[in-house]
Amino acid sequence: MFAQNGIALKVPMAAASLPATRTAPLDSRLTDSYGRVIHDLRVSITDRCNYKCVYCRTGEAGAQYPELGIDEYLRLIKLFVDLGITKVRLTGGEPLLRRGLLDLVRELAGLRTLEGEKLELALTTNGHLLDSLAAPLKAAGLDRVTVSMDAVDAATFERITRIEGSFRTVLGGVRAARAAGLTPLKINCVLLRGFNDDQIEGFARFAREENVAVRFIEFMPLEEGRLWTPEIVVPLTEIVARIGRVLPLVELPRREASETARRYTFADGVGEIGIIAPVSQAFCGACSRVRLTSDGKIRTCLFSQVEHDLYGRLRGGADDQELRTYIHRTVQGKEARHHIGEPEFLKPSRSMVHIGG
Ligand code: SAM
Repeated sequence: MFAQNGIALKVPMAAASLPATRTAPLDSRLTDSYGRVIHDLRVSITDRCNYKCVYCRTGEAGAQYPELGIDEYLRLIKLFVDLGITKVRLTGGEPLLRRGLLDLVRELAGLRTLEGEKLELALTTNGHLLDSLAAPLKAAGLDRVTVSMDAVDAATFERITRIEGSFRTVLGGVRAARAAGLTPLKINCVLLRGFNDDQIEGFARFAREENVAVRFIEFMPLEEGRLWTPEIVVPLTEIVARIGRVLPLVELPRREASETARRYTFADGVGEIGIIAPVSQAFCGACSRVRLTSDGKIRTCLFSQVEHDLYGRLRGGADDQELRTYIHRTVQGKEARHHIGEPEFLKPSRSMVHIGG
């Protein structure tokens, strides 16, 4: 661990403990050269977003990257499922803006994993359109949603999203999702010192009152502008200490090795808080993810410096076997870890909203 400008940065597990061999045969399950099994695919189905959150966007509206047809996303996702993907999360941009979303979810719900089971289907949304879409999404086969909320105070919330009335609208969406059974319902909150860190204790109460799992996420250098500094990150230890002062926390055991959140409940067992600490306590060594951008590029890490044009190969006439081989080779080259906070760190060419968080 080393300290930089006040925040303790731990070198991710991957650096120290991963072997450097490439052994996985083609056409088997996706495994990278460090032996990590990849079973989690995140797919951005649009680059557009109806919010302009101050820590994410510069304020310019409009997409930067194209979208594929729904049938094309489906074809690409099927290739990954053939290679052992068991969980698909739809994201964006804002995925609820995407025409054809319900058709895509319906088709995905019909796919089976290599074990013959239904895929685990989740979606990450800002919740703005969730009130009317929660029940149809559940009926189409979606299992769960994660709603992004960066404040529980309406004025702060709207200052962040830059959309008037957004707090009430999103709260309605959260309640509709819970009523529709899109559970366990998670709320993601990105904390930035001086922006919304005064919301921490309010979120702890919100988790209990609304019966949701609130997950605080450390801010990563993935914004469109240049806001990130080590000081702006509110680290896990500080969040736990602050909540613990008002409502004592009890840590919950990990459910699986690749779980990114450290989970806590309260002393009376009501409510759940999770903390995702990619900066202060990186979990790259247990990463099981790969991403597909809205324009069909594979990203093997949020911080990848290169993208892999899967869609370009599909358009060029590659057959499924060739595409699967390409995916396999690409995943073999997955990065060991990110380098946030290190002198050699380079921001990726796409920001979070254009990768798909
Ligand atoms: N529009 C959807 C939403 O709001 O959830 C999906 C896309 S959004 C980019 C996905 C998540 O990434 C949101 O929870 C957002 O707060 C988070 N996010 C955006 N920029 C981030 C950053 N620099 N560091 C950490 N999380 C970030």
